[in-house]
Amino acid sequence: MSGNVPKLAGVCVVWRKNKGNIEVLMIKRGKDMSFLPGHHAFPGGSVDEEDRNCEIYGPYDEKVKSSFAGAIREILEETGYFPIKVEKNISKEELVKIWEKLHRKETHFGEIQKKFNLKINLDDYFFSGPWITPPGLSQRFETYFFFIEWKEHFLNIDNQITREVDLIEWDTPENILQRWHKKEISLSTPIAYILEQIETFSLPGAFQYLKKIPWDKDKYTYFHPRAGIHIFPLPAPPQTFFLNINSIVIGKKEMLIIDPGGGEEESLNEMIYWLEHFTKMGSKFMGICITHEHPDHANGAEALSQHFGIRKYPLSELFKKCEYPIGKIIRGKQFVLNDKYIPWIVDSIYTPGHTKEHFCYYETTTQTLIAGDMISSEGPVVIDPDDNGSMSEYMDSLNKLNQLNIDLLIPGHGMPWFYMPGNVIIEKLIQHRKHREERILNNIKKGITTFEELLSTSYDDVPPERYVLARQQLKAHLLDLKQRGLIDKDIPI
Ligand SMILES: [Zn+2]
Repeated sequence: MSGNVPKLAGVCVVWRKNKGNIEVLMIKRGKDMSFLPGHHAFPGGSVDEEDRNCEIYGPYDEKVKSSFAGAIREILEETGYFPIKVEKNISKEELVKIWEKLHRKETHFGEIQKKFNLKINLDDYFFSGPWITPPGLSQRFETYFFFIEWKEHFLNIDNQITREVDLIEWDTPENILQRWHKKEISLSTPIAYILEQIETFSLPGAFQYLKKIPWDKDKYTYFHPRAGIHIFPLPAPPQTFFLNINSIVIGKKEMLIIDPGGGEEESLNEMIYWLEHFTKMGSKFMGICITHEHPDHANGAEALSQHFGIRKYPLSELFKKCEYPIGKIIRGKQFVLNDKYIPWIVDSIYTPGHTKEHFCYYETTTQTLIAGDMISSEGPVVIDPDDNGSMSEYMDSLNKLNQLNIDLLIPGHGMPWFYMPGNVIIEKLIQHRKHREERILNNIKKGITTFEELLSTSYDDVPPERYVLARQQLKAHLLDLKQRGLIDKDIPI
């Protein structure tokens, strides 16, 4: 587990004004790097032990100060830029020598600070953080982002390509975000979020919005994994088995809200904060949709609809537009969310199983599937025959969804799979259910005939608190097996 403790890191958002536009300094991370390979990012990296010996002033703790030292050292190392005023006269040759020594690990920030006579007061800089990488990734960082305006008189070595960095470039936030939407580049949530604030509010206007950090120690309230895909993991209502419910907002200029959550005070306030923020960014809400009528997904719709005057799309309206194209995927209403460049196109797809009236949503430009209660990353979803659930329909819906090319799969509950293709996850799910079905069939073949015995032998891997759910799953499997003529009609359910 120790590998999963977040490492302290510092990153620099180096920006400049060029012909009236703001440009930021970006790098493309090496494709062989273990953390976010090939991603576009701001330069920076993890803090070395020696960065902690820096002499930095300002009313901040050691973590912030050493992150700043680490960020400056890393930006010089990675890009050859030195974004701090140097009091002494330093020639380019001297800077190159320092740069080479840094690469050979023969010097450190403290030494550079003395040699260059750097006087640093953190009060002169804005920073955002810490952003803490969510659990589940191979490496995690506790990162501070420092904002520095690049000045003509700062020192830099002409584009040095290092082992870690594939590309160094200046570009406007608008261009970078547009390239992200065209899938030419990859960005992580903090980078995309920061760029969007700068694009909308410029600098220093964006700073006020960069103080709220949605990635805190154990609390992650916002993910922005693809262009136009915003995920809000809201707390789930207490009576449910899940920890969170994912509310999704798609688009930029025009936005669609899917599954606004249970409407409890805490989650409602969180959604109102973000939707108000999107309004300030110039977004317009085109509608609220739900995947199905269960209260933890749907109850927030009314309050949000009233608060913002947004139109609600009832499931009946999606059904009305249902059509049957090739592949037998049943598509309902399509939403086109216009933008300055490329629109987002969201298909509603009829997926009964968890309930009779269940829709998933597929955004075609990013190949994102919003799965609702078809899929959860916190354990299998419930197929409850007493609540209109059907195992045959569920398996059929899973197989249909698997015909789509899914890059990003967002489950109704639990952490989305940011770096695993959706089809791999669906395939695993199908196998999981088939495996369960096989166990039940084998137990029946062995001569087990009572429901209770079938439950204890076929679900012995399920923790006791989920037994009540397993009971309904077994019932759903048995109904399905009977329907398909695979077991005798007299097996009790
Ligand atoms: Zn549900």
